[in-house]
Amino acid sequence: MTDRPRAGGPRGPDLQKDDFHHQARKRFGQNFLHDQNIIGRIIRAIAPQPRDHLVEIGPGQGALTRHLLQQCGHLDAVELDRDLAGYLQSTLSADPRFALHEGDVLKFDLRSLLPQNGTARPHCLRVVGNLPYNISTPCMFHLLQFEQWIADMHFMLQLEVVQRLAAVPGDEHYGRLSLMMQYHCTVEHLFDVPGTAFVPQPKVCSAIVRLVPHARKPVQVLDVGCLQDVVRIAFTQRRKTLKNSLRTLISEAALSALPIDISLRPENLSLADYALIADCITRSRQQSPHNADSARARQEESRVEN
Ligand code: SAM
Repeated sequence: MTDRPRAGGPRGPDLQKDDFHHQARKRFGQNFLHDQNIIGRIIRAIAPQPRDHLVEIGPGQGALTRHLLQQCGHLDAVELDRDLAGYLQSTLSADPRFALHEGDVLKFDLRSLLPQNGTARPHCLRVVGNLPYNISTPCMFHLLQFEQWIADMHFMLQLEVVQRLAAVPGDEHYGRLSLMMQYHCTVEHLFDVPGTAFVPQPKVCSAIVRLVPHARKPVQVLDVGCLQDVVRIAFTQRRKTLKNSLRTLISEAALSALPIDISLRPENLSLADYALIADCITRSRQQSPHNADSARARQEESRVEN
């Protein structure tokens, strides 16, 4: 767990002095940061640099935005709430380095922020946000579609989600989210944030996570979709041993031929183990399309049984 220090704390106008009044909207997951120590710690962890192109998801009332803007080269913010978008537009748009995009991040195409003349450098965007907790997982996986353009991501999430993202085999939080995120990124649980740092206070604890897309994936797989299927099905039946939970996808004989202990439970296998299983299934599907059809039928059967 690291927190890169930087000289001087963030400064910026105190939003409490503004005339803007906003009633927090639960459906938009609005818990606004107000603890200046925590805000400072987040900004130091992000450590924006003058050449950085930042993308903030859900800027809200600008608790992080103003500090980020003081230190970065350009900031694009994506906000769904029309009132907050209007407020930010009226208070920050005089700064040519700031651009507000009113809309849903789940429909937002990050490539629209890149220069359209083909000069965009890979990994040129830094994404940040105190994410609305109700959409945090779909939001992260939506953004990962654009991972080739992303240098890193810093998010405030529910603590339990961060624990799941960062978990290793054998941990109680280890599962589908850990495996699929760690396939795409290195995950660092930076620090925890108490509910008192927000208004209104969320019912759950929060934490800051740093996600850095891999330059080269830690495992190579023939078909990521197959890896996703294997992981999803394995963890649907967490308590079963591997050979039982995966029987709809791969025969016991084929599984036994792999250098994996098939009596283990899904939570004891590494990403490399899941990659071996996925590739074995992909190869058998490629060799015999009939195998693919019967595997689909077995999966369908098991869905009905469960
Ligand atoms: N960044 C602010 C802060 O730290 O005080 C606000 C964080 S609040 C937890 C989440 C923000 O995301 C809110 O401003 C909310 O309106 C916005 N939001 C919710 N759903 C969104 C979506 N689908 N797309 C973009 N923004 C969204």
